[in-house]
Formats: sequence, structure tokens, C-alpha cells
Amino acid sequence: MKCRYKYCRYGGEVKKDEAIKDNGYYHKECYKEKEIKAKIRKLYIENIDKTVVYKVLNSVITDIVNTKNIDAEYLLFVVEYIIKHDMKINYPYGLHYYINNKNIKQAWRKRNEILLKQQLQDKDIKTRVTSKIDYNIEDDENDWSKLLGWTTTMPKGIVASKA
Ligand SMILES: [Zn+2]
Repeated sequence: MKCRYKYCRYGGEVKKDEAIKDNGYYHKECYKEKEIKAKIRKLYIENIDKTVVYKVLNSVITDIVNTKNIDAEYLLFVVEYIIKHDMKINYPYGLHYYINNKNIKQAWRKRNEILLKQQLQDKDIKTRVTSKIDYNIEDDENDWSKLLGWTTTMPKGIVASKA
């Protein structure tokens, strides 16, 4: 299948069973990037400048994400940061300036650290749950009387108990 994303970074061919279908086929990553860029445009228009020239805004976003190869998620973070902190931005080109803003970069690093920590914690919980399940399965299969080769008759004097 042909990936419909104009800025596909994966050679333009996508396997049908791995593709995201939405008016055509996309690599998962391409679809995500496309959606994030749409979100950035929407946020910008709704919260920063309702009269912005769409074409200009779009070309600045494409320039940053697809020419400068800046993570679209970071650009989304930058726009959210500008809105949240009521920072001045008069025209879309200002985004080029803000992606290098020291405070925003720092906040992004901090956000990623927190995310990473959360992911590690989640993984830790999952590992613990999995090992508990594994243990229970093993416990069932290795009923200790079977393990010792006892079948129907118990040796005298021994009481089988399952803890
Ligand atoms: Zn693609």
C-alpha cells in the first residue's frame, strides 16, 4: 500500500496489516505525526490567533517538523507552553524562535523524565503481576503429591496438605 502521508519518512510503502486506515493507508508513525500537526494548527488557531493565514501556519509547522526534523510532539508541547504561559507570539514564524527557548526546553526535559519514570513504574507493576500469575500456574501444575510421584495411595503417616 502507498502511505498517504506526504512527508512519509519510511519510503512511502506500508504493509496493509500494519497500516492505519483513514481515507487511505498510513504508517502508524506517519498517522501520528499528521494528527499531532493537525492538533497544533487547531490549538494555534483557537488559542493564539484566529485570523492567522492557514497556509503560513501550515508551512511553518511543516518546516519545523519535516525540514528541521523537530519532533512534532515537542512542537505541540511548545505551542501548549506558549498558550499556558500567555507568551507573546505575533506570527507563526515565531515558533522557530520558541522551539529554542531555554525554559521550554527545560520543561520538555522535565516532562520526559516524569514520563519515563511513570513508564518504568508501570513496567515494574506489570512485571510483578506477571510473576505472580506465573507462580500460581506453576503451583497448580506441580501439586506437590504429584511432584513426589504419589498417586492414589499416600504413604502411611503422611498427611497431604496443600498450603
Ligand atoms: Zn508513511
